[in-house]
Amino acid sequence: MAFESLTTKLQETFKKLRGKGRLNEKDVKEAMREVRLALLEADVNYKVVKELVSKVSERAVGAEVMESLTPGQHVIKIVNEELVSLMGSGQSSIVFSKTPPTKIMLVGLQGAGKTTMAGKLGQLLKKQGKRPLLAACDIYRPAAIKQLQVVAEKLELPVFSMGDKNSPVDIAKASISYAESNNNDVVIIDTAGRLHVDEELMQELVDVKEAIKPDEILLVVDSMTGQDAVNVAETFNSKLDITGVILTKLDGDTRGGAALSVRYVTGKPIKFAGIGEKLTDIEVFYPDRMASRVLG
Ligand code: GDP
Repeated sequence: MAFESLTTKLQETFKKLRGKGRLNEKDVKEAMREVRLALLEADVNYKVVKELVSKVSERAVGAEVMESLTPGQHVIKIVNEELVSLMGSGQSSIVFSKTPPTKIMLVGLQGAGKTTMAGKLGQLLKKQGKRPLLAACDIYRPAAIKQLQVVAEKLELPVFSMGDKNSPVDIAKASISYAESNNNDVVIIDTAGRLHVDEELMQELVDVKEAIKPDEILLVVDSMTGQDAVNVAETFNSKLDITGVILTKLDGDTRGGAALSVRYVTGKPIKFAGIGEKLTDIEVFYPDRMASRVLG
């Protein structure tokens, strides 16, 4: 991908300004054209770009350029700070229930990486001293249950399954009872996905939510799907009022602009990132790393 980094571009734009004390409106306007382009090129949603550019402009016009920085670097610094603040500063982790088991529902489209993530998250929580149970509620996708069992076996985690003849609501409820009597303090529920958002799927997820009252509903989003991810996130959030987002496939060559937009449109924190196919390829999400990635 021929992508000239924003830093280089802005350096160019501001070459003639080197040494000038304050950024004036005209200079900033010129720089913002580059910022806008770079963000769009990194697949940031246009609404988000608009808001970011306006925030950055507001802060940049009239700003005294820090001595250690060139005007270009100064603008980049502001863009970076605004990106980080947009994605939520700091990192947010799982909110555990005071009365175990903590119920975590993983939702998302088919292929987003839910089943893999159920394993990864289970493994991460196990390392933190928890005793997670994985629950197989995807009764539609051929081999989904088997896949979860294979993942769990590799990680030496227990799986709760009732085959594919019971409803997801019944399986979810039974998995909670099972966890209670087997001393599992976290239940990670792997739900069904579809290729596209549809009413039936949403209703099923809403039913599971009402039945078990999860502590976390985490939307698993494939970061390679670009702007589609933004629409998917908007729909899932409006129906389910999710508590957070997990981005998968960040090991791919996406710039991550869509990811950032998902945070913006849902207002929900991005909690974890999937960074590969291996079951250890999971990280807590760091907004500052993502900002650097978006800026290139
Ligand atoms: P589900 O349909 O949402 O349960 O998705 P799966 O967990 O079956 O994952 C779909 C595909 O994406 C599988 O081939 C996974 O190995 C792959 N996958 C999942 N997470 C990641 C990731 O973080 N990076 C990469 N490269 N592949 C992933």
